[in-house]
Amino acid sequence: MKADYHVHTSFSYDSDSAPEKMIEGAIQKGIETICITDHHDLEYIEPGWEVDFSQYFETLQRLQDKYRGQIQVLIGIEFGMQPHLNEEYEKLARRYPFEFVIGSVHLFDGFDPYYPGYFEGRTDEDGYRRAFEITLENVKKMKEYDTLGHLDYIVRYGKHKDKTYSYKENADYIDEVLKHLIQNGKGLEMNTGGWNFGFDFAHPHQDILKRYRELGGEIITIGSDAHKPEDVAYGFERVKAYLEACGFEYYTEFRQRKPYFCAI
Ligand SMILES: [Zn+2]
Ligand SMILES: [Zn+2]
Repeated sequence: MKADYHVHTSFSYDSDSAPEKMIEGAIQKGIETICITDHHDLEYIEPGWEVDFSQYFETLQRLQDKYRGQIQVLIGIEFGMQPHLNEEYEKLARRYPFEFVIGSVHLFDGFDPYYPGYFEGRTDEDGYRRAFEITLENVKKMKEYDTLGHLDYIVRYGKHKDKTYSYKENADYIDEVLKHLIQNGKGLEMNTGGWNFGFDFAHPHQDILKRYRELGGEIITIGSDAHKPEDVAYGFERVKAYLEACGFEYYTEFRQRKPYFCAI
């Protein structure tokens, strides 16, 4: 696995790692393609989560040249999904030449579960179910993304984390999400940040990846969601076995927002 398609830099509010540092971290790990996907979260709960795109493209295009021959640097983005924001994101995608767009749900009933609040007054189980329901609403209304980011990362923030989580309990919503992705030619991200967080699964859980394959899903993108250089390509040595166990023979890279299948 030589391509990391989910990486943050200091263009994201929650990373202070310069793009050069992230690229050099990738080179050190033997990565051949790094797709930078900084956060662009319109109408987020606090200011600062929007990328200055002229600066973004200028900086990253300069780094593409600087590192040419050492590593391929691609310019992508992670859009924070909200059902009513599709048009705004469409405008941005028309205006800027992203190679790859991750759509991720970061807001649930007005809360970012990273911060306290979302789980107050509800059980983990209720919180997870509601999050999958909201994810379904988002994937139905949003069109401007190539892959759905970190599908079950909500379980990081429950009181009992993955102990209170199973695909089965949420299969009604999750299956609808997967079917929608498949019918609309969208990918599903395998986000190795789950391992980095301490889970024995990447996001999403293997049960979900298996189900996606069973339903006919083929587009799997791979990303570490690194915010620091040492986390680039985290756990990539385990990806092959993880995906093969779920029935996949290919993963997917993107250029100009089009998928290319690569043998695992
Ligand atoms: Zn995210
Ligand atoms: Zn991310």
